[in-house]
Amino acid sequence: MYEAGLGGRPLIREYANIVPVRGERVSGQRVLPIGAGPAVGAAQLTYRGGPLIAQVKVYALYWGSAWTSTSLSPAQTQPPTRSALDAFMAHLVTSTYMNLFTEYNVARYTIAPGTFLGSSIIAPDPAAQVSDADIRAQIQQRQTSGDVPPWDANTLYAMFLPSGVTVQEGGSLSCDAFCGYHDAVIDTLSGQASAYYAVLPFPDCAGCAASADGSQISTFDALTSVLSHEVAEAITDPVPGTGWYDDQNGEIGDICAWQLAPLDGYTVQQEWSNAAGTCVAPAQQ
Ligand SMILES: [Zn+2]
Repeated sequence: MYEAGLGGRPLIREYANIVPVRGERVSGQRVLPIGAGPAVGAAQLTYRGGPLIAQVKVYALYWGSAWTSTSLSPAQTQPPTRSALDAFMAHLVTSTYMNLFTEYNVARYTIAPGTFLGSSIIAPDPAAQVSDADIRAQIQQRQTSGDVPPWDANTLYAMFLPSGVTVQEGGSLSCDAFCGYHDAVIDTLSGQASAYYAVLPFPDCAGCAASADGSQISTFDALTSVLSHEVAEAITDPVPGTGWYDDQNGEIGDICAWQLAPLDGYTVQQEWSNAAGTCVAPAQQ
């Protein structure tokens, strides 16, 4: 469910860092219906001098006991289970997908294939609605206890929520306004990052797996598409708005939101190429 009013949704945050629901796209500080606002053809990412992730190391956190299940009800062709998503992430970060980012290398960062560090299920079960602050607290708690690999400037924590849990971030709700986002935890005193993370609400809802125009993709494909979008954006703009960014169109994935492409049997999202002047798909192996 989403509305697509002419004025678009305001983005409360200073910089766009969300995957909008299907049928909408980022434009400046607003989320507009696709087709409204400045033409995507005018997109151009510019480098703002901040960090990139050179060799991403992804570690996944699955929040809640629902993730112990190895199947889902109702049955799906590709159940989006922990093991299936782990396998996707391990493939993604070593695949031809990573070649899409080499045009964004800068003097301090040479973007190369990454690694998948593993995953864990975290307890207790989340409430029916969790906030971004709740998610940060979960990550920080496990950083303190040593239950996740220690963070360094290449580490990206991916937090998955189970079906039925709504995420609230920046005044917006998952499935209503967004299908995922990434961000950085920045220490207010030092100004240094202490975590990069991506949030993956379960997309079995209208707006994410289903579109207002009636088209439907599987929950698994919606998750892998959103995940590829967030990994791409975390690599090229881990502290939103300080890496590669376009003031009108947002980050590398926002310009191409929901433009899907195959990747070795998976579904991913195309990403913006300054060099090609369009959204580009990864080469197939
Ligand atoms: Zn995005």
